[in-house]
Amino acid sequence: MPTTSKSNYRGLTIRVAVPSPLRRVFDYLPGGIEPESNSGSAVGALANSSTGYSVDALKPGIRVRVPFGNRKLVGVVVAVVTGSTVAANKLKPVIAILDREPLFTDAVFNILQWAANYYQHPLGEVFAAAMPGKLRNGNQLKQDRQVWTIVESPSEEKLKSLSRAFKQKALFEFIESAKQPSRAECQLAGFSSPLLGQLAAKNLIQSRLIPAPVATPFEAEESDTDFELSLNDDQQNAVTAISKKLNRYSCFLLDGVTGSGKTEVYMRIMHSQLSQGKQCLVMVPEIGLTPQTIARFEKRFTCPVVAIHSGLNESERLQAWNQARDGSAGIIIGTRSAIFTPMAAPGLIIVDEEHDSSFKQQEGFRYSARDLAVIRAREENICVVLGSATPSLESLHNANSKKFKRLILPNRTGAKTTRNSMTIIDVANETLHEGFSEQLLYKIQRHIKQRNQVLVFINRRGFAPILNCQSCGWIAECENCIAQFTVHANPSSLRCHHCGTFRQLPRFCPNCKSKNLGTIGIGTQRVEAFLNAQFPDTPVLRIDRDSTRRKASLEKMLQQINQGDPCILLGTQMLAKGHHFPNITLVAIVDADAGLFSADFRGQEHMAQTIVQVAGRAGRANRPGEVLIQSRHSAHATLQTLSTNSYAEFARLQLAERENAAMPPFSHLCLLRAEAVDLKSAIRFLDKIAAITDNLCQQGNLPVERLGPIPAPMEKRAGRFRIHLILKSKNRAALQALLSQLCEQLDTLKYPSGLRLSIDVDPQDLT
Ligand code: ADP
Ligand code: ZN
Ligand code: ZN
Repeated sequence: MPTTSKSNYRGLTIRVAVPSPLRRVFDYLPGGIEPESNSGSAVGALANSSTGYSVDALKPGIRVRVPFGNRKLVGVVVAVVTGSTVAANKLKPVIAILDREPLFTDAVFNILQWAANYYQHPLGEVFAAAMPGKLRNGNQLKQDRQVWTIVESPSEEKLKSLSRAFKQKALFEFIESAKQPSRAECQLAGFSSPLLGQLAAKNLIQSRLIPAPVATPFEAEESDTDFELSLNDDQQNAVTAISKKLNRYSCFLLDGVTGSGKTEVYMRIMHSQLSQGKQCLVMVPEIGLTPQTIARFEKRFTCPVVAIHSGLNESERLQAWNQARDGSAGIIIGTRSAIFTPMAAPGLIIVDEEHDSSFKQQEGFRYSARDLAVIRAREENICVVLGSATPSLESLHNANSKKFKRLILPNRTGAKTTRNSMTIIDVANETLHEGFSEQLLYKIQRHIKQRNQVLVFINRRGFAPILNCQSCGWIAECENCIAQFTVHANPSSLRCHHCGTFRQLPRFCPNCKSKNLGTIGIGTQRVEAFLNAQFPDTPVLRIDRDSTRRKASLEKMLQQINQGDPCILLGTQMLAKGHHFPNITLVAIVDADAGLFSADFRGQEHMAQTIVQVAGRAGRANRPGEVLIQSRHSAHATLQTLSTNSYAEFARLQLAERENAAMPPFSHLCLLRAEAVDLKSAIRFLDKIAAITDNLCQQGNLPVERLGPIPAPMEKRAGRFRIHLILKSKNRAALQALLSQLCEQLDTLKYPSGLRLSIDVDPQDLT
């Protein structure tokens, strides 16, 4: 800030991270808040005082309300220093101090600072993202209790006046005898609020704020418990290996097929930590946090279990957060943002289904909760376990390079066979019936006849992906996105899966006026209709985002499936996570080809994970399922490797490919994306950034490759053009150095109006 050093402020300065897009902190004066007269804490504060807590509380991690432009924002103190580079007359005082003690534990405070730096996101916004909404809005961490007491030296005259006011006298005596009653307690004893007001007006009683009672830590689990199950050798090896490394930093990759008993391993390790009074944080994918998951932990452990997920209202969220923070909860289960939950006595972090893409935040503060789990474990000096049946290539690479210790559970519990049998049906020269080959239909028929259940997987919701004109070839496209509309039934409509645009189904082609319109391709709705016609006596249950929109509809369908009667379960990606379907004996993947030729370099990895995960939902230990995969490219190496070998072998080959192409995890990426209504301004702006980048690389001799600016694979979305600039380096430190210098310059650039620039470090989604 350009001020002369003469006028710079020399006194106590509060450095605050404010939720604003600027990547810097702001200085404030502590002034305006007098230390509270009684005790230097809020205990003595008048109940109606709005100043909050004492100035003594001002230390890193405390929330403050500060003036910012013409707004008042809730920020977090990052430092209390002497002197500022800002002139004294330019500094504004903090409006209010909102906390008695820092919100975040030191470890969380540190990883938030680390993350702001690593992901190049403004610190104030990072803090805001890490708090429950109520705290973000400036609410108290724990509600102080307002209580009533007698004033220190009540005036004799006023006391005398009570002899004529019978009710007031009774209240006065009640407050004198009851220890600091609250308003509610006074009301319960028969005294009205106006009566309290009358006594207060006479200056005989006063209200005070006292802090909420201190929480007690959860009761440690019994240390010698009889477990129902005895572990198999692989599980035992895993438990032993992890147990040896508890209570200091280490990272394990628990690589175990679905049903191999990973959860049992987690629970043994958790038990040993819980019995020492240490808390466990269990991270699960968005869709994996089912009531069943929570119930499983609650059944096994006696300590309080709290779940932190998007279904909570703000009060519930704050309460769960508080229970983790004050140590009264033993187990914290949560989705992505739960990684920032402070814990009083951290003992273990588990990331289940670590490959799942929902651990990466895709907008705003674009962090990876999986990666931060590892960073956090190091900061807390505790153990972290990443578990999956289909580990990400990143984690496998980390295991190969000995950063993680890989533990393998190769078998389903109790089963001799290691895996489902997987067969590829070559449909290159077949006429398909609504996507199904004769062979597949025959198999479905057979499994149903044997009174089993069948799972049909199609990764596309709606009726059909394309509406076209059979006379002129016109294709219905969303005008806001460069993308095809998906045809939906019930109600018949066109919908854009990228921006949500909704249109009536046209009755004739807008191009040639022909009425000869048709659909191409299949979606779940179309297959549902087809299967209903093919198998009229068998219920078809469709599970996708459309059919499960209403609350409890998913639960209902899952219940029906669990009853075990023959049925066809039809669904999308949603089926690949969380649920087990023991009565399913056939899994049909109708179209494996989409993932094989995806533009995204992770396309094959994701497809392989989906196939293996979907396949893993079926069967039980003694009756593994049969898996059929339809493809027009049955000779494709990925399909062949999956069906004849294993996910591990597939991953080995993919890693070799990635290494050859110098793609992650053998290099590191950062995606800068400009989005604007005006295409040219976006390109021009990224051109400018490209020039700055080249300059910085040259000056600093930084080995970073620049790709683009190029139009994104999804060129236009929701009315905005999207342009990408990709930075790539084998040297993470070099990429980080470049990014921090670049971001410094970005903050000084003038952005074209309406242009949005996002920075995505370690991007998952390059579309
Ligand atoms: P994963 O998390 O790897 O998919 P789970 O932990 O859910 O596997 O275990 C699958 C099933 O096997 C569960 O019903 C579980 O109770 C059971 N199981 C786990 N470990 C054992 C064991 N050692 N012996 C017998 N059954 C087990
Ligand atoms: Zn036409
Ligand atoms: Zn659209």
